[in-house]
Amino acid sequence: MVVGLQSPAQATFWLVQGRTLFLMIPLLGIALFAYIVARRLTPLIRAQRDFRFDRPLTRLGRVFKFWLGQWKHPRYRFAGITHILIFAGFILLATRAFSLLIIGAFPNFVVPGLSGRAGHVYGLTTDYTATIVFLCMVVAVIRRLVFKPARYAVPARYGKGHPVDAIFLLALIAILMVADSLFAGAKAASNAHQGQAAELLAVFSLPWMLKNMLLSTAAAKLQGIYLAAYFTHEFTFFFLLCYRPFGIQFHVETSLFSIYFAKLDREILKPVRWGEENLDQVKSFGVKTFEDFTWKQMLDFYSCADCGRCSDRCPSNAVGRPLSPRFLSIKARDYAFQHYPVFAKLKNNNGTALVGSIYSDDEIWSCTTCGACEEECPLLVEYIDKIVDLRRGLIDDGNVPQSLQKPLKALESRGNPYGKLEKKRSEWAKAAEFQQVCRVKTLDQSNGADTLYFVDSITSYDDRMQSIGRATARILDHVGENFGILGGAEKDSGHEVRRFGEEMLFMALRDHNAKAINGSGVKRIVTADPHTYNALRHDYRNMPPVEHISQVIAREVKTGKIKFNPANEDCVYTYHDPCYLGRHNQIYDDPRDVLDAIPGLKRVEMKRSRDRSFCCGGGGLMLFYEPKEDQRMGVKRVQMAAEAGANVIVTACPFCMANIEDAIKVAGMEGKMSAIDLAELVDQQMAHSS
Ligand code: SF4
Ligand code: SF4
Repeated sequence: MVVGLQSPAQATFWLVQGRTLFLMIPLLGIALFAYIVARRLTPLIRAQRDFRFDRPLTRLGRVFKFWLGQWKHPRYRFAGITHILIFAGFILLATRAFSLLIIGAFPNFVVPGLSGRAGHVYGLTTDYTATIVFLCMVVAVIRRLVFKPARYAVPARYGKGHPVDAIFLLALIAILMVADSLFAGAKAASNAHQGQAAELLAVFSLPWMLKNMLLSTAAAKLQGIYLAAYFTHEFTFFFLLCYRPFGIQFHVETSLFSIYFAKLDREILKPVRWGEENLDQVKSFGVKTFEDFTWKQMLDFYSCADCGRCSDRCPSNAVGRPLSPRFLSIKARDYAFQHYPVFAKLKNNNGTALVGSIYSDDEIWSCTTCGACEEECPLLVEYIDKIVDLRRGLIDDGNVPQSLQKPLKALESRGNPYGKLEKKRSEWAKAAEFQQVCRVKTLDQSNGADTLYFVDSITSYDDRMQSIGRATARILDHVGENFGILGGAEKDSGHEVRRFGEEMLFMALRDHNAKAINGSGVKRIVTADPHTYNALRHDYRNMPPVEHISQVIAREVKTGKIKFNPANEDCVYTYHDPCYLGRHNQIYDDPRDVLDAIPGLKRVEMKRSRDRSFCCGGGGLMLFYEPKEDQRMGVKRVQMAAEAGANVIVTACPFCMANIEDAIKVAGMEGKMSAIDLAELVDQQMAHSS
């Protein structure tokens, strides 16, 4: 008589009965995992507070989109699709893994609802799933070993890479898939030996192939393979579970939570945690030590999958500045692992300054807050708030880069970074030639208007950018807008000041402007500066509605108030998305619609455009900061425009204009490439009815 396979529960392993062993392994595995996770959570419990429990339905929706739906992964097509297959595989195999765990102790266990036909369908699906996951592991190992994508590389200044760790983890998952398939294949082969109805296995799946390989194996050997496969599966499963919190694979557990608790209003910069009252009495400001981070910021460090997408898109990293966002996370995670060990006593961490130990000053000042990293990260890891928090800490310690000291002082005393007189703020509107066609009124108690044109410092004082101010005013005048400016009563919006960590100075500028704006009685605000737009919309409170001039123009083109003369046929235009108009405020279409409305205008798109636009080198105070870099961001951007076949770069931001015009000179492309602001181009092309 041919005897069937003995189940793992009935077998004996090293003198221990299977049922006992396979009850002990899960119990010990889960207890150890719980202990490790509890230890990993220690710094989060000690961290600063951050309320992330509002709008649960919105948060849940984002979990469905970004975690379950893997929304951002296909932005890198090959790696993204591989990840989606693995992730979907894990989800599908979860029930099978659960049922395998139970049958170690209860051999006849069947997951409710998965007996009969449903069980067969599920079995066939998971046969293929295990095969696909196994193949994905093979592909991932080959990619890491042979193709070595550049974004996984670890430059020497950021430490050593962990390729062995990555491959070890991939191998463990592959072992899990093989063990699972071997268990099913051995059982099917045994059934075939006994002349029983063939176990239904998916054709060409891994279990099916293994079954066919085992058909001629002797029964005793088959029994050994069957039990070894089961034991390997159980052991690997729990080993993997407990090993993951020691490396990047911890993101498997933490990413669900970091996506749920991710910032919902990403455009709003994280306020200082003490609120605004009595801020001057706070002893220490910003993030200086690891424990100054919030629990969510620490959770981000654990959740970073080290995929390198953020750094791959980071313009600072691209031009050789000493900043790579990925390593901001990895270094902080390594710090947490080292200072909050799982199996040793906690180290006394108090007071270790992060800047100077794991981070450098230049690293923290190199960021342009362009948002490319956050846009790209599939796990919604946040960077700008962390960098600004670290800058707040540096500023609090008086650690301000030399080149920024003068503009910051000037902002404090004169309300602009150039140290120019307040009364000269509206000089741009007083040019005789300009006044002949457009008169710009300065708002005061006797001189009101519906719309405020908030000009901001660079357009008010920079000779070149004043042309953008005049073009904006002429457009507003052309469409019949009743508008005015604040003149000397306007101060810098403080947008960059805030992002450079000078919160108190920002608050002073904001309060001054808010009083002047509210006192002017205007019903809406227009600006041609995306930084101002972002500040007034998101950093200020209770402001009248704010629009960027590109939105006004796009609307007035539709109403027919703005009509255009044909464009210069020799020009090929490309539009450069300013970070604070595009990525931070999702205004991508209005400027393009305006360009496309100009008859005969030839427009090409750069490879990196819209939400993947490449920052030109930093708005605001970045103009005063001299970073260490191999190449200017602006130069790289100008080269991208040339590669796209353009000879005119259109932008919609005075800071972009300053950077790009400068970059054209540095790149030696004068005469071959030029730059123009959207407002200037519209002003130039507008048809005036005579
Ligand atoms: S922060 Fe996000 S994009 Fe950057 S390495 Fe980590 S997971 Fe990847
Ligand atoms: S915000 Fe921009 S410059 Fe700063 S780290 Fe992210 S991608 Fe790099």
